[in-house]
Amino acid sequence: MLKTITDLEGLEHKYNDCMSCEILNGNLNCFGGILHQTENFYVCQDFEIPINGFIIISSKKHYSTINQFSNEEKIEFIMLVDKVLKKLKKIGVAEEFILVQGERSDIHFHTSLFPRKDWMKEKFGRVIANLKQIQEYAKNNMRTAENLKQIKQTCENLKKELNKN
Ligand SMILES: [Zn+2]
Repeated sequence: MLKTITDLEGLEHKYNDCMSCEILNGNLNCFGGILHQTENFYVCQDFEIPINGFIIISSKKHYSTINQFSNEEKIEFIMLVDKVLKKLKKIGVAEEFILVQGERSDIHFHTSLFPRKDWMKEKFGRVIANLKQIQEYAKNNMRTAENLKQIKQTCENLKKELNKN
């Protein structure tokens, strides 16, 4: 089934079936590109929401739940989450993150690393209770050249950090 998604810059893309598979296959280009890959997972900026440092970790296999992971994948995954969080903090994106990971049989496994930023607290109060509204706000108000430039810079910084030995 052909689906449509709007990227960070407001451009529409058509894709087949599964967004995470399409990104991995190179048929959909996420902003900043794929930032890092391990044997079974990859890291990129969220495709739709222009929030600096809003990072997604996806499995390469089309899983829908962590219950499908092998034991090696479970270890690889949590080591990668830990690494990405540390690097995001090191490059100054945010001091704290909210991890979101919903299970759905029709959605490719991914975990969202959502930065807690001061502007979110000031505008919306509790960040975790207002994730949806914050994302909608960002889509409607934050596709600015300045913000996209910062996101691009964060992608470059994070990519460099994650690919260090
Ligand atoms: Zn998939």
